[in-house]
Amino acid sequence: MSEEAGIERFIRPDLTTFSAYSASISPETLEGEIEVAAESIIKLDANENPYGCSPRVNQALATYPYFNVYPDNGQVMLRQLLAGYTGVDAKYIAAGSGGDQLIDLVLRLFVEPGDEVINCVPTFEMYTFFAKVCGSTLVEIPRDDDFAISVAAIKAAINEKTKAILLANPNNPTGTITPQRDILEIVDTGLPVVVDEAYYEFSGETAAPLVGKYQNLMVLRTFSKWAGLAGLRVGYGIFSPKIADYILRIKPPYSVNVAAIVAVQESLKDIDYLMTGVKAIIVEREKLFAELKRIKWLAPLPSQANFILCLVLNGRASQLHQRLKEKGILVRYFDKPLLKHFIRISVGKPEHTDALIKALQEIEEETGG
Ligand SMILES: *Cc1c(COP(=O)(O)O)cnc(C)c1O
Repeated sequence: MSEEAGIERFIRPDLTTFSAYSASISPETLEGEIEVAAESIIKLDANENPYGCSPRVNQALATYPYFNVYPDNGQVMLRQLLAGYTGVDAKYIAAGSGGDQLIDLVLRLFVEPGDEVINCVPTFEMYTFFAKVCGSTLVEIPRDDDFAISVAAIKAAINEKTKAILLANPNNPTGTITPQRDILEIVDTGLPVVVDEAYYEFSGETAAPLVGKYQNLMVLRTFSKWAGLAGLRVGYGIFSPKIADYILRIKPPYSVNVAAIVAVQESLKDIDYLMTGVKAIIVEREKLFAELKRIKWLAPLPSQANFILCLVLNGRASQLHQRLKEKGILVRYFDKPLLKHFIRISVGKPEHTDALIKALQEIEEETGG
């Protein structure tokens, strides 16, 4: 077909104007653009685990003999392992290629084009992304000045088209927690409610025990953050058995790869080691918070996750993000009205905090704060 014939006319009209997810930057793409070499870049932009995965994962993958064989599509062993970790029966569990795939699958299960999805903004951008791919209308309920959700506003927004309510807890990028009583009030609406606990191991708060009681509640988790497996893409959901069964039916076949399954198995043999890393990150989070607070043009928010959202009081958040990048420190800037005066900083190792604070002091000297 010639260029002029325009393949666009065959593309779904709602996707021709679709903008891609603004993913974090891969360090290798920055070579030459910034003041430091790619290998000394400090990556505090994607909430990745600075301590890496369990060494058991590396060892097991180096000698695993069956990469030529497809994984078990029914996830029998994987669901059993996750049952052991979460304390719920395996029939409540379905796994996917990252927590992201479960967000996608849940929305596909409930949402048809024209339906409405309630989202408490600012929050994880993937919700908007997947809801739009389903052709749904996003109903955005703004959080208050402290980034707490409004249950009353959520309830007022519900109508016969509402098919899902999405809630990250702790929320990304704000790090804030929604109290259990608010979650219960939302679940009491009877609508499908997703509580995304990607940072559960850092916050210690979970709605998982409620899933047995409320069929409409779905709790999502991931191995990307606490277990350092972001690159292997594995997450799971705790669902009522009926929903778990539907998710397993509609998921892409073999979506959790063999390496990821081995990695989960080894990670769960090494929970103490991984939780030592989680605890170090929590200690470092509080230290980073205190250090950021001492900088007069920054106002960090208390966080229950492995990152800190920080208000840039001089109105130059975007420039600060850029200047840090030039110095080899990647943080997250969201080019969105609700977040334009903020940067999000993932908690790294102590030396990363030191490098960041030094860079912030240099920037203050360069610009007069
Ligand atoms: C990181 C994250 C996820 C899941 O990430 P995956 O790497 O796809 O498992 C889900 N929800 C939130 C809020 C996150 O920040």
